[in-house]
Amino acid sequence: RVFLKLSGEAIGCNYTDAEGKKKNFGFNEDTVRDVARQVKDAVDSGVEIGVIIGGGNFWRGRTSDDIERTHADQIGMLATVMNCVYVSDIFRRSGMDCEIMTPFVLGNVSKLFSKDDAIKALEQKKICFFAGGTGHPYFSTDTATTLRAIEILKFVDIIACEDIRVTQKLLNHYEIKTKCVSYHKFNEKERVNYFLELFFYQEIYYEIHNMEQQQN
Ligand code: UDP
Repeated sequence: RVFLKLSGEAIGCNYTDAEGKKKNFGFNEDTVRDVARQVKDAVDSGVEIGVIIGGGNFWRGRTSDDIERTHADQIGMLATVMNCVYVSDIFRRSGMDCEIMTPFVLGNVSKLFSKDDAIKALEQKKICFFAGGTGHPYFSTDTATTLRAIEILKFVDIIACEDIRVTQKLLNHYEIKTKCVSYHKFNEKERVNYFLELFFYQEIYYEIHNMEQQQN
């Protein structure tokens, strides 16, 4: 069982803002189709996948100083929902079953998050999108990923991310022995193989670390 966390900007289109900074905004369908292809390969090999997507391609709570923070964060959480609706649609068109869960009621857009229902969906090989972050302001989708990992994965063997420096520092600080690797050192094919090896042979490769105990 694997969780994939994508920042919002990872699925956005490049643009340069008024100050000349490079950013990503909105949706880049080619990128998302490419992600869908890689995820489908993994699902077809028996991997269960949960997806968390940020909202930074539209809005982050700190984007505006004029809007009260709680409301600004609510906009950010809704941006993560838009991203999940978009990405899950492309995943469905690529032949995957998807479920969107949010920690707040959103009518027929999503189901209310429940750990048991999420595990059921994952066991049915549905891609489970955890949208809306934690449902609380002043947090980020990284916090939501950690929470869902503690609830649903229980054992986290490895974290593969773009830039390992911050994550590794945090893991060191809390003396967490979970392995952290940069996915840049793998080419695409190796990355998929690695993903699968990780899933099937994780006990051989990595020390298993119980995040639940660590939390206590
Ligand atoms: N957010 C929030 N609570 C959460 C998760 C997200 O308030 O539990 C809001 C917050 O404003 C954040 C925005 O949603 O800035 C987008 O999430 P994040 O910054 O994690 O997105 P990413 O940087 O990964 O694209």
